[in-house]
Amino acid sequence: MTDLPIQAPPHQAIYRRWRAQTFAQVVGQEAVVETLRNAVRTDRVAHAILFVGPRGTGKTSLARILAKAINCTNLQDGDPCDACPSCVSIREGRAMDLLEIDAASNRGIDAIRDLRERINYAPTDLKRKVYILDEAHQITRDAWNALLKSLEEPPPFVVFMFASTHPQEFPPAILSRLQRFDVRRLTTDEIEGKLRRILTADERTATPEAIHLIARLAAGGMRDAESMLDQLLSSSTDGLDEARVRDLLGLADTETVAGFVDALVATDARAGMRLLDALDERGRDLRGFLDQVIETLRAGIIGAAPPAGLADAGPMAHSVVDLAAAARRLAAIDPSRAGVGGLRLQLELALFPDPALAPRTAAAAQPAAQVMPAARAQTAAPVTTRPAPAERPATPAAEPEAPVAKSRPTSTPPQSPQEPVAMTSGPAATVPPSAVPPAATARPAPPAAPDKPQTPAPPAAAATSPELAVLRERWPEIVARISAHPPTKPLIVVCRPISVENGIVTLGFPEDKAFLRQVAERRKSVLEDNISAVLGRPVGVRCVATNIDVLPDLPSDEEAAWILAQAQRIFGDDAADAAEVG
Ligand SMILES: [Zn+2]
Repeated sequence: MTDLPIQAPPHQAIYRRWRAQTFAQVVGQEAVVETLRNAVRTDRVAHAILFVGPRGTGKTSLARILAKAINCTNLQDGDPCDACPSCVSIREGRAMDLLEIDAASNRGIDAIRDLRERINYAPTDLKRKVYILDEAHQITRDAWNALLKSLEEPPPFVVFMFASTHPQEFPPAILSRLQRFDVRRLTTDEIEGKLRRILTADERTATPEAIHLIARLAAGGMRDAESMLDQLLSSSTDGLDEARVRDLLGLADTETVAGFVDALVATDARAGMRLLDALDERGRDLRGFLDQVIETLRAGIIGAAPPAGLADAGPMAHSVVDLAAAARRLAAIDPSRAGVGGLRLQLELALFPDPALAPRTAAAAQPAAQVMPAARAQTAAPVTTRPAPAERPATPAAEPEAPVAKSRPTSTPPQSPQEPVAMTSGPAATVPPSAVPPAATARPAPPAAPDKPQTPAPPAAAATSPELAVLRERWPEIVARISAHPPTKPLIVVCRPISVENGIVTLGFPEDKAFLRQVAERRKSVLEDNISAVLGRPVGVRCVATNIDVLPDLPSDEEAAWILAQAQRIFGDDAADAAEVG
């Protein structure tokens, strides 16, 4: 492997410095690379190509290398030389005839309109004009219609390259005109190998356990692994060990994971909820925690040692049957569900015995139905889907009607009024935020008296709803809390609350920083946990692009520059690249 960094300033993000510049430098993807090299060798590159695969696996890198290859004046057996004027101008982003369009942005749509007008002009500095359309599933119907003609009869000097995580959203008429390449997730070994080369070149050290943990957490996305490494390395000049990785990435410690497994097996809800409270207080990410717990249970079930860095040997003390029963309850959890029926509540419910095995009566089910209206409303709301990590263990077969995730009224276990558990499913919308101390955790306060209706404002009034006023008033506190967590600081500082409706807080992100919105989408649970904590009731978070100039309290130019610098350091520095990070 010859993937040495290309003459780049050392402060540049690792994934940019280490981006593959030739086919030979691409890690993994052997089949795709071989097919592309062959096409280049025999001069049979299709005029419209589609790269499909999970985010951060190198789709746009492959497109750029292919763009170099079809323009290179000194091909090396189908691989670009990366030294001729064409290669260099593409590598440095100076090539006029290579146009990268982020289809997810407004500017992208304009660019596609533009493209149609200019497509017939001959190239100026390259042999062939190349259009790389990233996030291409977001191309609008009108834009596709505009493109269709160009795809059917492209000028001989034009090549289209699309990259997408969701090819199923392409119109069939388009899909049938594209030559498709499937880019796969990378293996843990492949990611570890590259991380080790980066560490060696940067003269930094990390324990094998730390490298392994980063590679596992990246779940097949090299860019995620590189971004994590970047963040970890820039936070300290010391060597990296597992504990530091866990700490900086917001992972729970092994004792907490093992303790939660104990609580699950013993169906000790109180102990489990104390652990969840402690995680909330430390701003830990519950989604990551769920993954950790599932990995640990799985390791216990198959009799393996717990995965490095994810838990200690605690769970090994339990029987396989008990571990499987606990795993089955967790397997039913839908981590993408926001708001009242969100991950926190689902984790809490998993701490109770399987309701299918518990006696149930109509009387027990009735109160639950009354206290959970918001949860059912949530179920109907659109939720974003979390990409499944490649190496997430195959969870034990869940029962088809596993009740924990369904929020069915009957799935709420019988509760005694003295238990704190009874509070967790209170109707969120009726809680006056002022009744809750600022440091309260996500657990909602008891329902308010019926004569104080604080139901969500109707959509039309959302912009000035009392809930929004409260949120704006508490905003500085929310910003302070989330800023304490370095990876989310740039996100919370740049966004603004737009509305609060039916338990969903809508946050506006500047239109020209689409990638920040997408990163925020990915870190949503941290935003949700902290906003819920300050408001004293569980809320979901929705991130939208907006014209932020119309919103109050813009950061100063200096602050804005700082935010962008931080975000670029952590997540990479342009929307086209970072769009996939989200
Ligand atoms: Zn070249």
